[in-house]
Amino acid sequence: QPEVFNENRYEQMHYNRCGRSGLQLPAISLGAHETYGSYRDEASARSCLYRAFDLGITHFDLANNYGRPPGAAEQLVGKILRAMPRDELLISTKAGYHMWEGPYGEWLSKKSLVASLDQSLRRLQLDYVDIFYAHRPDPQTPLEETMGALDLIVRQGKALYIGISNFSGAQLEQAIQVTQRLALTPILLHQQRYNIFERRCEQDLFEHTQNNGIGVIAFSPLSKGLLSDKYLGEELPIDSRATNVWGKKSLENVASQEKREKVRRLNTLARQRDQTLPQMAIAWCLQHPAVSSVLIGASRIEQIEENVAALDHVEFSPDELQNINQIVSN
Ligand code: NDP
Repeated sequence: QPEVFNENRYEQMHYNRCGRSGLQLPAISLGAHETYGSYRDEASARSCLYRAFDLGITHFDLANNYGRPPGAAEQLVGKILRAMPRDELLISTKAGYHMWEGPYGEWLSKKSLVASLDQSLRRLQLDYVDIFYAHRPDPQTPLEETMGALDLIVRQGKALYIGISNFSGAQLEQAIQVTQRLALTPILLHQQRYNIFERRCEQDLFEHTQNNGIGVIAFSPLSKGLLSDKYLGEELPIDSRATNVWGKKSLENVASQEKREKVRRLNTLARQRDQTLPQMAIAWCLQHPAVSSVLIGASRIEQIEENVAALDHVEFSPDELQNINQIVSN
């Protein structure tokens, strides 16, 4: 029996052009890191992914090493996504972090990238991914080899677009120069951490992506859940990533007293905007013109619904932006 998805799924979501490319990304995308692939049962992962698609989230992000054990996320998410129309989905994966033993199981050599993507395609049971990323910069491998391998992968039809992640602005410029000099597949997208607390890319990266027509997909917009009210109580909530995945002992360890005070103040500000803090945090990322999409994680359906509703109010007054700056810089 084929699944039936929401007929109106494209009405609420916004789609943003990714840099100077033909590709449109949903304003909100969903990733699997530390959420799907043995962290939660299959049924709850399926219900999250279905709800996301019903709300117009067309982009699902993975990496070779996501899940427990590494690879479990691709296996599970691949299986769930098979119920959805492939041509309405953007599926991404990455290679670069440690994945298997020996000298080829990590970093960005041609050997590692090609082998890793072949493994990912088998786990996902796909012929191609939409976006394939170099997950982190590799200080040893020449960029000519890495960018050449990514270009090969595109020419072989195993990926449609290529991206990089966790590169500095200077490293991105070098990679761009290599693709231009050797007439290789251009970089579509840069995946980088960006949220109200972690704003380094405002200084280091956005100028480079914007000047070169490259999109940015911002990950951890909630700073892994910190930008919500869940860590404001006296104890770590039982049903949270901090307890389920990180196994941290103390609240202070996850969110210092000082951080929690800032979260409290941000929470008040969000309420004044008639938003929840997660919604304000997502809207805040999206108001930067460099950002094409915000890449969230969600352990349950209600979070996806709440987070997508951030799109109802994405504008900020200069005063609101200033207040946020003041809170985080104090
Ligand atoms: P977020 O900052 O969005 O954190 C997600 C977590 O926050 C959820 O799992 C949930 O935690 C909590 N949460 C989400 N919505 C709400 C809500 N409305 N109210 C309260 N809590 C909420 O992003 P992630 O850090 O998970 O990263 C998202 C994606 O980005 C990853 O899946 C991955 O695809 C990508 N990523 C890429 C990296 C890279 O190096 N390229 C590195 C890290 C992530 P809980 O389980 O506690 O409910």
